[in-house]
Amino acid sequence: MVTEKIKPIQQTETNDQTRSKKTAPRIRPSMKKESILASDYNKYILPFSCEECSHFHREDVTCTFGLTTYPHLQTTQQKSYALSGSMALCRFQEID
Ligand code: SF4
Repeated sequence: MVTEKIKPIQQTETNDQTRSKKTAPRIRPSMKKESILASDYNKYILPFSCEECSHFHREDVTCTFGLTTYPHLQTTQQKSYALSGSMALCRFQEID
């Protein structure tokens, strides 16, 4: 009769344990940014910022829907595009 030695199961670290040693996990995923071709950016007048939206209140820099406006402000969008070629376009933007 052959008996096999049963090896003890080694406890491995889960992803959460490994991640917590390096950096804390994100509470929420980062905002998705969309790439825009430079030729399209230069050729078309793209409405991409809160300042061009009907729901934007210039006085207090807020949104009718209560969304965070900072990622969609014109200066933020232009800086993002200059650095990465992508922007965080708002799905709720409306233009009159
Ligand atoms: S709907 Fe979007 S683009 Fe319009 S003001 Fe609100 S956050 Fe800005």
